[in-house]
Amino acid sequence: LEAQFQQAAKMEAVGRLAGGIAHDFNNLLTVINGFSDLILRDTGEADSHRLPLMEIRAAGDRAARLTHQLLAYSRKAMIEPKVLDLNELVTESLKLLRLVGEDVIVATVLDPALARIRADRGQIEQVLLNLVVNARDAMPNGGRVTIETQNISLGADDWTDEPDLKPGPYVRLTVTDTGAGMTEQVRAKIFEPFFTTKGVGKGTGLGLAVVHGAVKQSGGHVSVTSELGVGTAFTLLFPAVSAAPETAPAAIPAPTGGTE
Ligand code: ADP
Repeated sequence: LEAQFQQAAKMEAVGRLAGGIAHDFNNLLTVINGFSDLILRDTGEADSHRLPLMEIRAAGDRAARLTHQLLAYSRKAMIEPKVLDLNELVTESLKLLRLVGEDVIVATVLDPALARIRADRGQIEQVLLNLVVNARDAMPNGGRVTIETQNISLGADDWTDEPDLKPGPYVRLTVTDTGAGMTEQVRAKIFEPFFTTKGVGKGTGLGLAVVHGAVKQSGGHVSVTSELGVGTAFTLLFPAVSAAPETAPAAIPAPTGGTE
C-alpha cells in the first residue's frame, strides 16, 4: 500500500511538472523545428551542413514526440469527459492504428450492444495508440493485435483488491498481442513514469503512465496479464453510463455530470 501511495505521489508530481513545462517547451520546439525545416529546404544535397541539420531535425522530432506524451500525461486539467461509444472510437482509430507496422495485423471483436462510457475522446485515442504501439514493439517479427470490447458486470465479490472499483456494469476493453511478453519484474513496473526497457532515444516510459492516468480519470481500472513468448493482454474497465440520453429536454435543466 505504501508503494502504491508513493507511486501515486510520483505520478502526481510528474503530472504537475509536465503540465508546467511541456506546453512552453512545445512552443519552443515548433520554432526550432520550423526554422530547421526552412534552412534544410535551402541546403543542397552536397552541402556539408545538410547531415548535421538532418540530425537536428530528427532530434527535434523526437523531442516533439516526448513533449506530446508529457502533454497527454498532464492533460488532467484540460480533459473534457463526454459520453462516448467506444466501438465507434475504436473503429475510427483503426485507420491510424493499422499504420503502426507492416507485419502487424490489427483485428477487432466489438460487442454490438456495448454500453456507453464517459471519458475524454482524445485521451482514449491516445490510450489505444500507446497500447497498440507497445504491442507492435513487442512483436519485432510481426504478429496480431486484437482489440476487444465487451459489456461486463462486476459483482460485489469481484476485484476485492481494488477498493475503488464499485460493483456494477462496466465496459471492458482488451488489447491482446502475440508478442514477447514480459517478466514479472518488468510487469511490476510498467505503469511507472519513465520506466522503459526500450533503448535510449526509443522509449519514453510514459506510454503506460498515460494509459494508467487516463483510465483512472474515467473512473476505470487497468490490469495486465503476460506470458513470456506468448503475449500480453491489457484489460481496461470503464464504468458503463446508463442508457439515459445525454441531452435532456430543453425545458428541464440537464443534470450536471461533474465535467469540471
Ligand atoms: P515505452 O513504450 O516508452 O517503453 P511504456 O510506459 O509504454 O513506455 O511501456 C513501459 C514498458 O512496458 C516497455 O518498455 C516494455 O518493457 C513494457 N511493455 C509495455 N507494453 C508491452 C507489451 N505489449 N508487451 C511486452 N512488454 C510491454
